[in-house]
Amino acid sequence: MIYVKGLSKSYGDNQVIKNIDMHIAPGEKVVIIGPSGSGKSTFLRCLNLLEQPTSGSIVFDGQEITDPKADINEIRRHMGMVFQHFNLFNNLTVLDNITLAPIKLKIMTKKEAEAEAMRLLKLVNLEEKASAYPAQLSGGQKQRIAIVRSLAMKPKVMLFDEPTSALDPEMVGEVLDLMKKLADDGMTMAVVTHEMGFAREVATRVVFMDEGIIMEENNPKDFFGNPQNERLKSFLAKVL
Ligand code: ADP
Ligand code: MG
Repeated sequence: MIYVKGLSKSYGDNQVIKNIDMHIAPGEKVVIIGPSGSGKSTFLRCLNLLEQPTSGSIVFDGQEITDPKADINEIRRHMGMVFQHFNLFNNLTVLDNITLAPIKLKIMTKKEAEAEAMRLLKLVNLEEKASAYPAQLSGGQKQRIAIVRSLAMKPKVMLFDEPTSALDPEMVGEVLDLMKKLADDGMTMAVVTHEMGFAREVATRVVFMDEGIIMEENNPKDFFGNPQNERLKSFLAKVL
């Protein structure tokens, strides 16, 4: 689904992503962990070109998206992204938040988009919030709406950047449960998170990023049970 080759990203003299290679197969759930400032967000943002890579190539679904001629908006349609801070439109209802992009991009008629939105809202037990505004929702509800909004575009892959980090502890579970459901349904996912339980349970592969490189990657059992790199060992000792 995604081939990353020799990806680098610098901000001025600061090289934050250093020659990363990664392959994400269809249906894979790659969980990325690592210390703050190690380049996790930058890497994820390069994947859907929210950041322009300094060098390297990314092939998504058979198309080289780092080609200057690639249609970025067309590519982003197929890559859902969920952030720490929800990024809902506060002046729009839940229903309008979800249907805005599919209608604007003429992927669906208003009627179709609203029917699809209600189907998705039902799936997350939030159909009674369709006409509510974001300010009337809890953090966990907002994040589940943000996920549903991405799903309405029928993405081929979902990117999550610390989706539960801004939530009160009691709301983390409902968001992780929705992500697990997506994973079970076969969604291809790349998830940056500090939730080690989620990584253990859901990841097909866990990646440790430090100082802009992939220091170690493995299946969750060996990654947590038999870490090799000293930096990973000390990181795990702090977070587990
Ligand atoms: P992480 O998500 O792992 O915490 P980031 O990808 O956010 O790490 O940041 C990696 C490094 O890149 C940090 O040193 C950060 O200060 C720097 N950085 C991130 N975004 C920018 C930017 N827009 N301009 C300049 N430096 C940035
Ligand atoms: Mg980050």
